Amino acid sequence: MDDRNRYRSTIQKEDLMKYALVTGGSRGIGRATCIKLAELGYAILVNYKGNKEAAEETVRLVKEKGVSAEILNFDVAKKADVDAVLGGWIESHKEDIIEVLVNNAGIRQDTLLMSMTDEQWDSVLDTSLQGMYNVTKCVLNPMLMNRYGRIINMVSLSGIKGMPGQVNYSAAKAGMIGATKALAQEIAKRNVTVNAIAPGFVKTDMTEELNEKELVNMIPMKRFGLAEEVADLVGFFASKNASYITGQVVSINGGLYT
Ligand code: NAP
Repeated sequence: MDDRNRYRSTIQKEDLMKYALVTGGSRGIGRATCIKLAELGYAILVNYKGNKEAAEETVRLVKEKGVSAEILNFDVAKKADVDAVLGGWIESHKEDIIEVLVNNAGIRQDTLLMSMTDEQWDSVLDTSLQGMYNVTKCVLNPMLMNRYGRIINMVSLSGIKGMPGQVNYSAAKAGMIGATKALAQEIAKRNVTVNAIAPGFVKTDMTEELNEKELVNMIPMKRFGLAEEVADLVGFFASKNASYITGQVVSINGGLYT
């Protein structure tokens, strides 16, 4: 099969029910991403950890787009949890395929390293980096068998540049960037792309207690980004239009130097 035919055959598989899984889909960037992927026609799996009401609200908003949505409650940091809930879902949905995975779940626990507790280090690394591993491991094999897929990792400016007060978070996101580049090369020939998105400051619960008025002074666009703006970029990476892009990290930060 030549490259053009291989490309066509991947875009004409209409027989499976196609899902997008968004970790941390209950709030912020994750919720906006669920809505964007719903607009692309995907059935949505909304993962969350503790905020059931917010996850239910995401499901409601996704359904407004005319596609189905299901909640998958698991802590991405706990492999046994991921294997039981997500692995169980995959096992009982043999006719369906998770075509898009967005590793979005993340937390911040900011403090200088000299005063950081082991718990603050572990919880941030476990959620972003270990969480990406746990969920991707679960989803990857069926995606490879399907010979088509999109993995999108939500990283951060902090993982590119390093931010004082965020040694744990910078390490977690930089680790995800390395994994993105390595995995992209491992699976490119199966038509599964792996890319990372690095937001700067985005208006969500995560940035709520930051001093926005002061921080915008260092952003060339003089404002925080919106979750919807990040979701638009996820939508592009998830689309067929991004077929030849893999192993990349794209910043979305209003012009902050990276
Ligand atoms: P947010 O508003 O605080 O939402 C975090 C989401 O992650 C929630 O849905 C939360 O679920 C989920 N979550 C947290 N820990 C989890 C776990 N262990 N298992 C499963 N889900 C978990 O955050 P956000 O601002 O939208 O950030 C989303 C992603 O973008 C994160 O990876 C973050 O690091 C990254 N990012 C954000 C910014 C920013 O300025 N906002 C900048 C750069 C990168 P519950 O609702 O159940 O708690």
